[in-house]
Amino acid sequence: MTTTPRSIKAFQRIGEENALSILSRSVELASQGRDIINLGVGQPDFQTPAHIVEAAIKALRDGHHGYTPVSGILPLREAVARRTLTTTGIEISPDNIFIMPGGKVTMFAAIMMMGEPGAEILYPDPGFPIYRSMIEFTGAKPVPVPIHKANDFSFSAEETLSLITDKTRLLIINSPGNPTGGVAPKSEIELLVKGLEAHPNVVILSDEIYDTILYDGQKHISLLQFPSIRDRLIILNGWSKTWAMTGWRLGWSIWPDDLYEDVRKLAVNAWSCVNAPAQYAAIAAIDGPQDDVKKMLAAFDTRRKIIVERLNALPDVTCTMPKGAFYAFPDISGTGWKSKELATILLEEIGVATVGGPDFGILGEGYLRLSYANSVENIEKAVERIGDFLSR
Ligand code: PLP
Repeated sequence: MTTTPRSIKAFQRIGEENALSILSRSVELASQGRDIINLGVGQPDFQTPAHIVEAAIKALRDGHHGYTPVSGILPLREAVARRTLTTTGIEISPDNIFIMPGGKVTMFAAIMMMGEPGAEILYPDPGFPIYRSMIEFTGAKPVPVPIHKANDFSFSAEETLSLITDKTRLLIINSPGNPTGGVAPKSEIELLVKGLEAHPNVVILSDEIYDTILYDGQKHISLLQFPSIRDRLIILNGWSKTWAMTGWRLGWSIWPDDLYEDVRKLAVNAWSCVNAPAQYAAIAAIDGPQDDVKKMLAAFDTRRKIIVERLNALPDVTCTMPKGAFYAFPDISGTGWKSKELATILLEEIGVATVGGPDFGILGEGYLRLSYANSVENIEKAVERIGDFLSR
């Protein structure tokens, strides 16, 4: 086979999402008869609410089998605009909303647009691994923004702003955050936005996919609520986490006027449109009853408290209480184990799937990510197994 220069260089730089490889390995071990508890992958363990499934079936029966407009059907973009108004108080035109085949595709598009050799892109570390992977793919320089435990796993506005240079094209923010469960406080977001006013050429991608998964009565703060950066702000959001729809591959994004035409062309070249019945299901998700979402959130909250309490009772492990998302990010550095080695041995020897912190960036060393999107019974059993292993 002949290889092109692009496949040699760019494809050697592209990374992975190790949580998905761990999921494959867990499935393989389970198929060999092993009792595996999966706290690895980040997806709700609930079924998509029934009325959403019914809306997709109805759409198919009603004959919605063809291509849709590239940006998504208008009633869906209108529903997203209504939802945005309810959750943020900000009015957005459906003409700035773009329906995507998954939340991930928005980061793919934004990074493809902004990244090229010579450019710098700031991204959270530890953070969702695809940010860095895609930045490397484009040839841009990845510049990690540290997410410190000492800051309650939020970025520091001062530190973030200090990393901006005249080469910075894009700043990626993620709150509530994966893998830490950290939530940026309002004061820090305000400071960041104020500082960004001095850098009008920096585009901002705010990944708000966990915007509903917040605890202790917190209200989500969207970067949309800051008019001074609106003309260069991209919002990533979607259905995967809030409505338990990871396998439907659905997301929405909000784009400034200047970039909308570019994302439209990218979509035309790559996926044409998002599958039609899924788009009708997405309207039902937004407009229908939210009781199931509330039940899922209550279950996540119960599990959050249990997993953190149990983890803190383990020898040499400390775990901060996450404020959002469904991940616990315990500090395991006191155990003497390297994170990835521990994650591997926990899966292979005691059948507990977790993800090593370094899969989310250099600053993830010393941590494990445990997704508590699993039953209380499984969470208790998994942490007990980890405790027995660490006490050996
Ligand atoms: N952004 C963050 C921070 C995530 O954790 C995830 C999924 O885990 C995504 C985006 C991607 O979501 P989707 O499954 O809708 O592509």
